[in-house]
Amino acid sequence: MYNAKAYTAASETSPLAPATIPRRDPTEHDLQIEVLFCGICHSDLHSVRNEWRSHAPTVYPIVPGHEIVGRVTRVGSAVKKYKSGDLAAVGVMVDSDGTCSNCKAGLEQFCPNMVLTFNSPDKHLGGVTYGGYSDSIVVDERFILRIPSNLDLAGAAPLLCAGITTYSPMRHCGVSKGKKVGVVGLGGLGHMAVKFAHAFGAHVVVFTTSPNKKEDALRLGADEVVVSRNTDEMKKHAGSFDFILDTVSADHDIDAYLNLLGRDGNVTLVGAPPTPLPVSAFSLITGRRSLSGSAIGGLAETQEMLDFCGEHKITSDVEVIPIQKANEAYERLLKSDVKYRFSIDMGSLRTE
Ligand SMILES: [Zn+2]
Ligand SMILES: [Zn+2]
Repeated sequence: MYNAKAYTAASETSPLAPATIPRRDPTEHDLQIEVLFCGICHSDLHSVRNEWRSHAPTVYPIVPGHEIVGRVTRVGSAVKKYKSGDLAAVGVMVDSDGTCSNCKAGLEQFCPNMVLTFNSPDKHLGGVTYGGYSDSIVVDERFILRIPSNLDLAGAAPLLCAGITTYSPMRHCGVSKGKKVGVVGLGGLGHMAVKFAHAFGAHVVVFTTSPNKKEDALRLGADEVVVSRNTDEMKKHAGSFDFILDTVSADHDIDAYLNLLGRDGNVTLVGAPPTPLPVSAFSLITGRRSLSGSAIGGLAETQEMLDFCGEHKITSDVEVIPIQKANEAYERLLKSDVKYRFSIDMGSLRTE
């Protein structure tokens, strides 16, 4: 065991503050990684404030962060694929049983024994796992991903959650050239969805409640922008979409989007509104439409996504901040005052 520096919250009403946390010394299959950048995901904030207490109560102190990019500093004796000095990345999960049908299908995110990067039971040290708001992290090499060397590291960090969360459902639903694809909401997730859908060659339509996001949506790769409050604009697209990715986590009218789908079209939810969404059966029956959900992606697909980003030079649009600004960033996140993701420069923790 060794001591690492981290930013932790001591209770659901406490701000994040510097602290020392225990980390395990790397076992034979582990890598120790010096964290260089960690993205701020909305789930960090939900967990720090215990807003998901009904299904995932927070154990304090919490160290959030699951969009981690860093450099390997120590290597377990049995590790074959990495050496000291390599770039490495860690996403939303750090372990799974490796034996269930989901793991065998490369869908570790659905493993009943999957271990999240933070706030999951830690089988090594007891307590819970600690995430990326830290100067280092120790992770089994099976859950380490490679970052293409041509990508900006600050912008690459959010690929580990926002990136794979939007890439995976689009691949699953066959988004490609000739398809008409909608993206609902232009935030951390939505802006990545636009970049991927554009790179896949689809015709991309962004739905937003704020007309002032139009120019930015077009810059990110959208072909059209629809202001969702404008029912006439919405009607023009009725029955025409192959796929719509809904990234909105506030309550909203899902039927309005189902009715924009063509035959066999699909709306996939990646946001998590707090209350159940009413859905009219007619919206689904008409045109054999479907409504799905999706959660991050498996390890192999996450690597595929990172490699795709390397080839297409895709990163997240980030505002780089020092860790000392994390509490302020949370307040700004609540106001959607970021284009489009905060990425913490962890060098700022080392010099503290
Ligand atoms: Zn996340
Ligand atoms: Zn499993």
